Amino acid sequence: MIATAEPAGRASTRLSLEGRNALVTGAASGLGRRIAELYAQAGASVVIADLRLEDARAAAEAIGAAGHKALAVQMDVTDEQSVEAGFELAKAQLGALDILVSNAGIQIVAPIHEFRFADWKKLLAVHLDGGFLTARAAVRQMIASRRGGTIIFMGSVHSKEASRLKSPYVAAKHGLEGLAKVIAKEGAPYGIRSNVICPGFVRTPLVEKQIPEQAHELGITEDEVIRNVMLKDTVDGQFTTVDDVAQAALVFATWPSNALTGQSLVVSHGWFMQ
Ligand code: NAD
Repeated sequence: MIATAEPAGRASTRLSLEGRNALVTGAASGLGRRIAELYAQAGASVVIADLRLEDARAAAEAIGAAGHKALAVQMDVTDEQSVEAGFELAKAQLGALDILVSNAGIQIVAPIHEFRFADWKKLLAVHLDGGFLTARAAVRQMIASRRGGTIIFMGSVHSKEASRLKSPYVAAKHGLEGLAKVIAKEGAPYGIRSNVICPGFVRTPLVEKQIPEQAHELGITEDEVIRNVMLKDTVDGQFTTVDDVAQAALVFATWPSNALTGQSLVVSHGWFMQ
């Protein structure tokens, strides 16, 4: 008999989410939408949770039209009741969750001496309150189901690095790394894993909006924002894509053991190297 490096049955060449239920927040757009699509293609039933119900419905319908199962749920991740109600609805329709991607996010840019306190609180509420409320709801379902599961937070290179004009965003994205590590420790006895994906710049609506705003704040052209701010430190001057990030989310979701927990994976064309 030939010895293999991996125990039989653990590693797989096809990443399947057959029979799993996944909820993705902020999935009406950008990264969340692509992750939900890829999860559905891999066999999962997906919940498109977003503040914007019409866009969430459109995303769910497109996934349904491709022959997969998707449910649109209106959810404000900053609101405890809205999160609890959304998770209950998802459970009633699909059964307990196996995967949460806590992805909903916003961006507000300004220098710290001009940053409005209301904007600081708004941004932290979406990223940090949202991360906590959705992870808590998911962990409760995963413990009760006794099936364990995976929590994935959408961090950023800004979980590792700072940029000018982004004080609450950088603080929040660093904070998500801490939250993910705590959940990795508390979740381990229940088979719950927790990790962070840290993308570089991806041309989603969140970034398209920022390009003219940064140009205005920094007094440079939009092209200079792209070349000299956003992609300056990448190895090849390339944007990261929604597909790159979705693929990383699929790897985390399909990982079969606690070997991969409490980690962050930077997907950024080398902008940040660990
Ligand atoms: P996007 O604007 O395309 O999508 C964000 C989605 O979040 C939208 O559909 C929006 O309706 C939803 N949302 C906002 N506030 C919400 C709330 N309170 N409750 C529920 N949903 C809400 O942006 P994106 O680029 O796809 O960003 C997704 C995540 O990825 C964010 O957390 C962002 O910080 C992170 N990220 C993005 C980039 C990038 O370059 N695009 C890089 C690193 C990290």
